[in-house]
Amino acid sequence: MLQLGKMQFESALFFESIEQIYGRVFRSIKPRTPVPPIAVRFRRYANANSRIRLKDGQLCVDISDLLQNAPAPIQEALASILISKLFQKQQDPDWMARYKRYLNRADIRRSLSAVKQERGRKAFRDPKGKIYDLRELFEEINVEYFHGLMARPDLGWSVRQSRSILGHYDPCHHVIVLSRLLDSEMAPRLIVKFVMFHEMLHLRHPTQHKGSRRCVHTPQFKQAEREFTGYAEARQQLKAFMDRTFLKDRDLEDLERAID
Ligand SMILES: [Zn+2]
Repeated sequence: MLQLGKMQFESALFFESIEQIYGRVFRSIKPRTPVPPIAVRFRRYANANSRIRLKDGQLCVDISDLLQNAPAPIQEALASILISKLFQKQQDPDWMARYKRYLNRADIRRSLSAVKQERGRKAFRDPKGKIYDLRELFEEINVEYFHGLMARPDLGWSVRQSRSILGHYDPCHHVIVLSRLLDSEMAPRLIVKFVMFHEMLHLRHPTQHKGSRRCVHTPQFKQAEREFTGYAEARQQLKAFMDRTFLKDRDLEDLERAID
């Protein structure tokens, strides 16, 4: 009987759900706060990131599915790290070390890098489009504005016809992607060139971080952007293009947002 009782106790521990683990860790960190409803989801992230937030009284936790099969002590360590972070409590170095040791395991590192490659790869199409060749545009702008000195990143047309983002530079994958919507006779060359120029400026003027603030379009960036030949006309044409194609009655702020 004793033996059976012990086994039951062990299996109860073994079968503690992920939500129960978070509940238990929550109580240990915030003993006087009632434990909110907890929802834990494993997500297909391209890295081992995890997120936690309190939303409408619910504790929402998103964890990389890479950690789905991690043993309970690792889940417990991560729970402690996330909940401490949420309440700005001092991190327990032992939990942190345990979690980091796990991520550093050779097999975990291997699956992490496989997942990064597979999921993190940017999907984009050949830079030579139906109407415009992005490589050609890049080199033209490079000579005109950068003394031909800018090293060419990956370039491509978006897979989908993005209507909200006309251009985007992704520093992680070092790629400039333009919306396929611009590879059209409807889009004047001047605006395609202007969007490309804007994205190229992101390579020249990286995002600035001041404390917790992030400045993507710094004053220097904006000043450099105004040096584009036909700047006012390009913006006007871009606005007209957006009105024509998809963004009816939008204002200049939408234009700023569309060129990321
Ligand atoms: Zn931008």
